[in-house]
Amino acid sequence: MSAPELVAGVPSARLALIAEREARRFAASRPRTRAALEAGAAPFLDRVPMHWMKDWPMPFPLVVAKAEGARLEDLDGFGIDDFCLGDTGSMFGHSPAPVARAIRRQARRGLTYMLPTEAAFQAGQLLTERFGDFRWQIATTATDANRFALRVARAVTGRPKVLVFNGCYHGTVDDCMVTLDQGRTVNRPGLVGQVADLSALAVCVEFNDMAAVEAALAAGDVAAVLTEPVMTNSCMVLPEPGFHAALRAATRRHGALLIIDETHTLSSGLGGYTRVHGLEPDIFVAGKCVAGGMPTAVWGLTPEVAARFADYEVTRAPGHSGMGTTLSANPMQFACLVANLAEVMTAESYAHMEKGAERLAAGLSAALSKHGAPWHVVRVGARVEFICAPGPLRNGTEAAAAHQPQVEAVVHTMLLNRGCLIAPFHNMMLVSPATKKRQIDRLIAAFDEVLTELFG
Ligand code: PMP
Repeated sequence: MSAPELVAGVPSARLALIAEREARRFAASRPRTRAALEAGAAPFLDRVPMHWMKDWPMPFPLVVAKAEGARLEDLDGFGIDDFCLGDTGSMFGHSPAPVARAIRRQARRGLTYMLPTEAAFQAGQLLTERFGDFRWQIATTATDANRFALRVARAVTGRPKVLVFNGCYHGTVDDCMVTLDQGRTVNRPGLVGQVADLSALAVCVEFNDMAAVEAALAAGDVAAVLTEPVMTNSCMVLPEPGFHAALRAATRRHGALLIIDETHTLSSGLGGYTRVHGLEPDIFVAGKCVAGGMPTAVWGLTPEVAARFADYEVTRAPGHSGMGTTLSANPMQFACLVANLAEVMTAESYAHMEKGAERLAAGLSAALSKHGAPWHVVRVGARVEFICAPGPLRNGTEAAAAHQPQVEAVVHTMLLNRGCLIAPFHNMMLVSPATKKRQIDRLIAAFDEVLTELFG
């Protein structure tokens, strides 16, 4: 008799049976959700208000009734421990009280007027205190912040290209939507409606590969390296010792700027990975949770880059700059930034998040060992991920090979059927200041139950 076919160590026939059973269980337990979708979803393209919502692994999406702290309640009345937390937008919990208060206060004073308030100045001060000496701009999404940062980098260097790492994600910034294909930079195959060859604007190399970085920078046409401190948008890839120092030295030597996108790694601790690990970016970007869940992003230039940009500005013809959007830097964003930076994103919050995430990572790792699963767990502060392959992973190619969509979809649905929600695009779990120890222990127990079924 031949050995059974395995997917990430799981017999594929067993996986198929469990997948079907769990999908049925999800659908059968949510009649109101299903009815609401049937009655209300048709006006939307793809029957969802944003097409990523089709990427959840369940037969149909949850419809949320309300959320508080680290809990969601869906339309069918299920209470769910939320470890997805809006894929980081709510990393500090749903509606943190100081942010909710700030929203109520500001709602009485106007929502948008394209002028600063006093809170804007307070926000600027707090941003500098938290993240370092940068000259700040407020945007609405991290996508926008990265686009604007790239414009500045190209303006001040006069160079065309951005260097990104294979498997990166920096929002829907077209320039970064490239991949490596047998050593060549090419457009990502799934990118919609991009008719230009993006290799004119971008060069893609592997993370942790300084020889490749050096070779790309030596061409002299790279305006900036844009990177996350840790690759979080593939299966998580940590920087190897010395990588960031070498990257910083190489960018300086070759006259390219270094843009650090902290959007996901604000999980690292106070001031993000940049502060915790002493990185020295020329441009700093953060979004998602930076204003406690209010759509807000921030980007900042070092005084040196700001001075170079001022020199560029005097040479620029009048007209559209291509930076900024109408609703950005609105008073609600300032109010939420101040509340979040001063009262939510605190050392105490991070201590709680770190401790909880450590507990979660240890519990998940112990469950993997117990079941002999050939998987591993990675953690960056409050951000924990299990990866359905052995590790550690060194780059985007290894991360793509480690991704096991079929197994991951089953695990996600099983966890949800046991009351735990994790992020849909990867196996990511966040511990917020509101996350309770008992929620973490429930997730560990559910994960153990899932592995018992998968590995027998
Ligand atoms: N940068 C990073 C590192 C991200 O992970 C993301 C989103 N996942 C973005 C930028 C873009 O954020 P947004 O979708 O809010 O524009």
